Amino acid sequence: MEISPSRTATVGDAQVRRALPQRTRRTVGAWCFVDHFGPTPTGGDDGLGVGPHPHCGLSTVTWLVRGTAVHTDSLGSEQPLRPGQLNLMTAGSGIAHAEQTPSDQRGPMHGAQLWVAQPESTRHGAPAFEHHGELPTIGLGALAATVLVGHFDEVSSPARADTELVGVELLGDSSGPTEVPLDPRFEHALVVLEGRVAVDGAQLGVGQLGHLPVGREHLVADTDGPARWLLLGGVPFEAPVQMWWNFVGRTRDEMVAAVEDWNGPNERFGTVRSELERIPAPVPPWRDRA
Ligand code: MN
Repeated sequence: MEISPSRTATVGDAQVRRALPQRTRRTVGAWCFVDHFGPTPTGGDDGLGVGPHPHCGLSTVTWLVRGTAVHTDSLGSEQPLRPGQLNLMTAGSGIAHAEQTPSDQRGPMHGAQLWVAQPESTRHGAPAFEHHGELPTIGLGALAATVLVGHFDEVSSPARADTELVGVELLGDSSGPTEVPLDPRFEHALVVLEGRVAVDGAQLGVGQLGHLPVGREHLVADTDGPARWLLLGGVPFEAPVQMWWNFVGRTRDEMVAAVEDWNGPNERFGTVRSELERIPAPVPPWRDRA
């Protein structure tokens, strides 16, 4: 397993650990963005508060360990999200959304925001939103696994997947070595949300990304206390992705067009009902260098 540090990034007024993308690793399968936020202090008055902003070419996967947030989007969706539930928004050619913790539900927050790059076959298609209130959970030795997306150990998530991939949350407590099955066609990333886990004997903690190349049929996980981590995998993505701000595509010209469509008078991304302010798109420094 190759281990690299996450970097610190700012989202709204919150600091997050950004495990993906990395300079030398843009994607793991179709996973192209991994932000781990919190845990904020117990007894605190925290919450998500991200005003209306657009996306294209990706699906957002929002996963809470603690706290609550309400998703609103330009399709008219309005969906509260609680720990153990999945919000999956697929942008296609364009969507806009906001995520906000209601003022009377603020408190400790902990979770992850993940993006999945869409393949050529769906990335120009219609936007969509799914909420899954219950996800399949299985015991794996002394570990508990919740399958967010894809197929894992004979269990499948009901969530949409545009490429062959997997996203699982694993939970253990001094479990002893446990064999975790992997799809050998997939490369995998591990992101620890709580505690630490030894993977084939190598220690992985919060603020790091563990990467396993294709060809692995299992890993052996061992925890020496309470631990929670994400296992993200997929077939290596079909093409290099270009990312700018909240947009995923293939070329810089696509990124510039998305910025101009959001900042200009254009209905491509639609309108979101939110009390928060609409966030303008930053203009890429390379726009005028063409
Ligand atoms: Mn977003």
